[in-house]
Amino acid sequence: MTAQTPPTIALIAHDGKKDDMIRFVRGHRSGLARFHLIATGATGERIAQATGLPIERMLSGPLGGDAQIAARVAEGRVDCIIFLVDPLYAHPHEPDIQGLVRVCNVHNVPIATNEATAQLVLAGLEAKLPAGQP
Ligand code: PGA
Repeated sequence: MTAQTPPTIALIAHDGKKDDMIRFVRGHRSGLARFHLIATGATGERIAQATGLPIERMLSGPLGGDAQIAARVAEGRVDCIIFLVDPLYAHPHEPDIQGLVRVCNVHNVPIATNEATAQLVLAGLEAKLPAGQP
């Protein structure tokens, strides 16, 4: 974590939680703007359209986007994941989702799977940013 390379937050939302994710990002726009943001395909597209924040987009989750983010976690390139999961529906890429959670646990990377946890994790990360960093 340096002034030149802001820490990275990965944003992912299942379809039933995408509106919640947009609301969350809008509500924390200035805080999130201090991080490098990556996201799965459709989540990233929705956030970019709704907020104008720069977002590095991976593939769509069902096409491997979660697995791409998991690989970055394993490489030490992700500092936090906010993954708003929809617990009421089954997802075809469930193995990838479980793999992402697993790799976060292996590497001790925070992964927030609901909005309440996301707020706490984001506040904690912001508190760790160097003073004066925009
Ligand atoms: P999506 O993927 O952002 O491309 O919809 C999210 C997911 O993992 O379901």
